[in-house]
Amino acid sequence: MLKEICLGFALAGVIFLAAAGYDITPLLFLGAVGLGLYYFAHSRGLIAKNFSEHRAAPGQQISFEDVGGQATAIQELREALDFIKNAQQIQKLGIRPLKGILLTGPSGTGKTMLARAAAGYTDAVFVAASGSEFIEMYAGVGAQRVRRLFQTAREKALKQGRANALIFIDEIEILGSRRGQTTSHLEYDQTLNQLLVEMDGLKVDDRVRILVMAATNRVDMLDPALLRPGRFDRQVRVELPDKEGRLEILKLHTRNKPLAADVNLEAVAKETFGFSGAHLESLTNEAAILAMREGCQEIHQRHLHEAVDKVMMGERLDRRPSAHELRRVAIHETGHALMSELVKPGSVSALTVTPRGQALGYMRQSPEDDTYMYTKEYLEDQIAVMLAGAVAEEQILGERSTGATSDFQQAARLAEKIMESGMSRLGVINLEVLPKGLRYRVLTEILRKQEERVKASLARVEAALCSVAEFLLEQEKITGEKLREILQGVLQREKAAS
Ligand code: ADP
Ligand code: MG
Ligand code: ZN
Repeated sequence: MLKEICLGFALAGVIFLAAAGYDITPLLFLGAVGLGLYYFAHSRGLIAKNFSEHRAAPGQQISFEDVGGQATAIQELREALDFIKNAQQIQKLGIRPLKGILLTGPSGTGKTMLARAAAGYTDAVFVAASGSEFIEMYAGVGAQRVRRLFQTAREKALKQGRANALIFIDEIEILGSRRGQTTSHLEYDQTLNQLLVEMDGLKVDDRVRILVMAATNRVDMLDPALLRPGRFDRQVRVELPDKEGRLEILKLHTRNKPLAADVNLEAVAKETFGFSGAHLESLTNEAAILAMREGCQEIHQRHLHEAVDKVMMGERLDRRPSAHELRRVAIHETGHALMSELVKPGSVSALTVTPRGQALGYMRQSPEDDTYMYTKEYLEDQIAVMLAGAVAEEQILGERSTGATSDFQQAARLAEKIMESGMSRLGVINLEVLPKGLRYRVLTEILRKQEERVKASLARVEAALCSVAEFLLEQEKITGEKLREILQGVLQREKAAS
């Protein structure tokens, strides 16, 4: 409407100028070019991009029950969302509203599903966009789209009479990477700034409360401004599923498929180490296609088995570790864990060989109170734990591997810390002016001493090392309690024997 009025006035002005005897050709020309550009941009969807096509089709509601193997993530997400559901209370207490939740983890693990489920859970309208949609070569378009996205969410909620809207931005690292770093200049920065502005403007007492959820597998790339309080406050990690999780997901995706009696989903779960939820979904689908091709009425185990290879080849899955490598990883991680238990009983909370990020295995230590100062003993213990992975490999498999490189780097750093703080045999020194040869000798001494200690300790618990590693290979994870149980059993037997 406003547009028409403006146009009318402009036209009147031009006619007036013409009547007054001015040469209006350049004006007409400019007007034509402007109009042309406007319609060009419009037709390409550059200006008023409509986000509605991303809304979940009705009847396609996803709930948390449809997401398998993500119990921890769902739990954390629910807690955050419950916070939003109690908006009145929050307003009364003057609590800063939760505005953003960041889902991080590899692709295909269910982040989009979780966001949709979150919308259902909070009875919010769901509007989604992907980071790449905001990046155009025309400056300012991205920022405009961000504004439009928030506007769309508000309008939609009002139209449907709902109090909540959930905006989901997939691949946020594309528009939210560190400012000033992207090769392609200001466009990214403007877009990100606009997102920050929109988020800062959200209030609890808005007619429509907006929650922004975003997904990324590169948190490290995000601009720190995005992670500040009042923006993406919460981070929920969405990891690749472990064996149990994979079984759960397989069950979910075979709900609507006829399975033959010989089907053993547990075996399939075991076979699919490193698969994401999306891979598993595609696996069940491939299996059904294979069954159909053979003219079977039901899916048999052999179809599922064949589909595993098919998915792996088709999706070019990250290199899957061989059984050999997995065994090595299990032994390596068990080495760390047992040493950790020996220097500080109760310190291991869990051990897994499910891939997380780059590492194949992972030992979680129970959280400790924040410490600001370390004693020599503590540092030495930590060095011992770091070295134990490689020592365990050597002890059981006869040789070490490159898997311990970063462990050694970390151990060396700790040893330097000991020297630096005057706790080595050199007493108080200045590392910077210490002759290189001497520095190297003392560093090596510290590491060697711990290495010998680890060798002696692990040799004593070799039986536990083997049983825990076996358990880990079979189950892909072991809790701290189970690990201690095995370790105690071995230690007691040894005591009784001596
Ligand atoms: P992401 O957003 O993490 O890349 P999506 O949520 O888009 O993953 O998942 C893609 C598809 O893979 C889903 O539509 C679903 O079929 C399947 N999928 C992924 N993760 C899971 C899961 N945890 N449980 C069940 N299905 C899953
Ligand atoms: Mg997705
Ligand atoms: Zn290690």
